[in-house]
Amino acid sequence: MINFPPTRAAGLDRLSRFTPRMGRTYAAGRNSDPGPGKRHAVSELSPYVRHRLVTEQELLQAAIAAHGVEAAEKFVAEVFWRTYWKGWLEMRSGIYDRYALGLNAAMNAMAHDRSLARRVERACEGRSGIEGFDDWAVELVETGYLHNHARMWFASIWIFTLRLPWELGADFFFRHLLDGDPASNTLSWRWVAGLHTKGKTYLARRDNIRDHTYGRFNPEGLSGVAVALEEPAPPAATPIAPVPTPDRRAATGLLLHGDDVAGVGLGIGVDISAVAGLIIDDGRSAMVQDWTAAALGDGVTEMGRRLGLSGSCLGMGDVLAWARAHGLTQVLVPEAPVGPVRTALGRLSVELGGAGVKLLPLRRPYDALCWPYAGKGFFAFKEKIPTLLTQVI
Ligand SMILES: Cc1cc2nc3c(=O)[nH]c(=O)nc-3n(C[C@H](O)[C@H](O)[C@H](O)COP(=O)(O)OP(=O)(O)OC[C@H]3O[C@@H](n4cnc5c(N)ncnc54)[C@H](O)[C@@H]3O)c2cc1C
Repeated sequence: MINFPPTRAAGLDRLSRFTPRMGRTYAAGRNSDPGPGKRHAVSELSPYVRHRLVTEQELLQAAIAAHGVEAAEKFVAEVFWRTYWKGWLEMRSGIYDRYALGLNAAMNAMAHDRSLARRVERACEGRSGIEGFDDWAVELVETGYLHNHARMWFASIWIFTLRLPWELGADFFFRHLLDGDPASNTLSWRWVAGLHTKGKTYLARRDNIRDHTYGRFNPEGLSGVAVALEEPAPPAATPIAPVPTPDRRAATGLLLHGDDVAGVGLGIGVDISAVAGLIIDDGRSAMVQDWTAAALGDGVTEMGRRLGLSGSCLGMGDVLAWARAHGLTQVLVPEAPVGPVRTALGRLSVELGGAGVKLLPLRRPYDALCWPYAGKGFFAFKEKIPTLLTQVI
């Protein structure tokens, strides 16, 4: 069974053990899922990257140094999928709001439709009767991880065979995946449903599942068609706004959070006199929230050691008192992309602002460089990868 110790040291150890397989082994084997404990062709690094215990840049650097640009091409492209989804959602945050509204509507529908509620419950508890699908539902809840191809099959069966609202499936993933990510998760579900690339869906096929699970699963009764879901046209992309420059003379604190638990390579550029981590309740499962809190604890301790400070983790209601106790007039946070952490930081900014303390986001140079290229489809973004690599490795 997979085990993800929530520390940067464990993430770096997994990175160095997987680096020899980031080249042709990854390209040849990444699409097949031999099952928990047997996956040697994928990295299982996503919980670390998602919370930035290990950064995208560190993955890219390791891959290119060990294999060169050509042999590492597939791995590099997959890491950039993550970056692409982030940048795309940054420019169209309305799509995330639309997802949240859709989820709310689907939950209301469940409250009034007992048959729908029962079907959703059976799917989430691995009792749909569909081989493979039921195993992945259980694996997700127990381990917090699913192979990429299993995620695609699961989402496709959820939408096109079980005909359940896609937002409820995305929410099930988001609550239970240790790497649950507002951009990668929401937009991947939209992609399967035919909403991201309008009209282009992903259909899970029995023979494909059988072949790529080495015969572990051979599900019957899957839908043979995947008719794209429809929605009003998505909002046009809006350029990513610049972030304000911190005041170098202000008494400054650093507040890490679940989207960036360790601040590795953040480039702070201001003297920091206090460090802490912000724990928010984002509605995810207890296992995921505990994991994130432990990872944040590790990140804060390590950052404190580097700055010669001692830090701790705080709830939303404790931040103002922490800022006052340290005489802070400015609190820097690693920029949180679109999602629950950004929403929480927005509320915190208003509260601190009312007490004369500014909350300012620090944008990572990697995000600042890459996100603006994500306005269109992935293939337009992919063409920029060689140029981006010259600046990030
Ligand atoms: C329906 C669906 C939901 C998903 N939800 C999430 C999610 O909530 N969080 C998340 O991080 N990923 C999500 N993904 C993308 C992908 O499945 C995971 O990133 C990947 O499986 C993580 O496993 P790994 O670390 O072993 O990946 P590897 O194959 O080893 O890839 C290395 C790294 O590249 C990135 N990556 C690889 N494939 C993708 C991809 N298709 N999209 C984005 N980044 C990728 C990840 O950061 C990953 O850690 C989803 C995909 C689908 C189809």
